[in-house]
Amino acid sequence: MQFEEKIIKTVQDAESRCRDSFAKLEQIALENQNKVLDAFRNNNVGQRHFAQTNGYGYDDIGRDTLCRVFAEVFRAESAIVSPLIVSGTHALTIALYGLLRPGDEMLAVSGAPYDTLKEVILGDGNGSLKDFGVSYRQVDLVNGAFDYDAIRNAINDKTKLVFVGRSRGYEWRDALDVREIGKIAKFVKDIKSDVIIMCDNCYGEFVDKIEPTQVGADIAVGSLIKNIGGGIAPSGGYVVGKKQYVDQVAYRLTSPSIGMEVGSYAYGYREFYQGLFLAPHVTMQAIKGSILFGEVFDSVGYKTMPRPGSDCKDIIRSIMFDTEEELIAFCRAVQKASPVDSNVTPFPWDMPGYEHQVIMAAGTFVAGASIELSADSPIKKPYIAYLQGGLTYEHVKIAAMYCLQSVLENK
Ligand SMILES: *Cc1c(COP(=O)(O)O)cnc(C)c1O
Repeated sequence: MQFEEKIIKTVQDAESRCRDSFAKLEQIALENQNKVLDAFRNNNVGQRHFAQTNGYGYDDIGRDTLCRVFAEVFRAESAIVSPLIVSGTHALTIALYGLLRPGDEMLAVSGAPYDTLKEVILGDGNGSLKDFGVSYRQVDLVNGAFDYDAIRNAINDKTKLVFVGRSRGYEWRDALDVREIGKIAKFVKDIKSDVIIMCDNCYGEFVDKIEPTQVGADIAVGSLIKNIGGGIAPSGGYVVGKKQYVDQVAYRLTSPSIGMEVGSYAYGYREFYQGLFLAPHVTMQAIKGSILFGEVFDSVGYKTMPRPGSDCKDIIRSIMFDTEEELIAFCRAVQKASPVDSNVTPFPWDMPGYEHQVIMAAGTFVAGASIELSADSPIKKPYIAYLQGGLTYEHVKIAAMYCLQSVLENK
């Protein structure tokens, strides 16, 4: 791709302001890589774990070892890692259904959970948690922070599970720091010790040196086609945490009589292992790209989140545009700068599980994988593009030049 001199210069200048942030990120990646490497070594991962399995999958050592490696990485007792989980939404859903019982109450403490969970929690007549007699309460963040007083007031006899969303979702807010999640976990347990703290960890893995399970989350849930799949895992989700809770979720994933004793995968598990191994590095490539995009678009007058110079707590970059046209031009530019389906023009459309029309740019090897460079945005005011991913920093840098050029042309 070819760019005008002034575009190249804007991006180069922005990059030179990122150096300190990049150095910090490299240290985080190094520590996480070591953590992952140790988990592989401690579990004696070998070629035999990559083998294809079929049928029931009893004693599937590829599956079982993968679960153990994940558990170690998260410093958790147990994990479910499975290509049989179809997405992050599915993983979160089985976790909620596995842990909540009729008469229980779920309390969301970081505002509304991710859009696709709305029908899961509150749907009418679709087998939602509400249909099963599970009630729901929500406390919104105030200026991006937990509202401790309101949370204290919301906890009652029925409160069984407190739900925290680490990432920002489709909101103009920053993601939550893992340490803040630790604080809220302790706060809640001091009020009611048997409450389960569940964290939607999507987009958060390896952004920091620690994970929510290391600071008090009882269970953390995510997608394998985001950070932790390293761009290699072809599908799937994970649930990690306390053994008792992970077991309950396993009974929901398969059946109360079999849990994680079964489940085969005819393509073999190499990609999940290799993806996890690459994930600390790939996540940092994506965050470096996110920081660069932030500097670039800030320098030409757009608001971005997080603010330039501040730490990233998930891999997403929010960029606020003035018009729908600019937003769409931006998403289309991301698509055009992709290695796959660059000839496709994204349009806003009705997506299952989302309230507004959504435009999605994802010219990805793994369909819809948002650890690969991608952008999506509900079509609503204010016009915010949520950009994330990038398997290599170089790709994101090229895309930054192309996106800048396209948006300025559409201004
Ligand atoms: C991606 C995501 C999910 C799950 O989405 P899927 O598209 O179903 O994988 C849930 N929560 C957050 C914060 C997410 O980013």
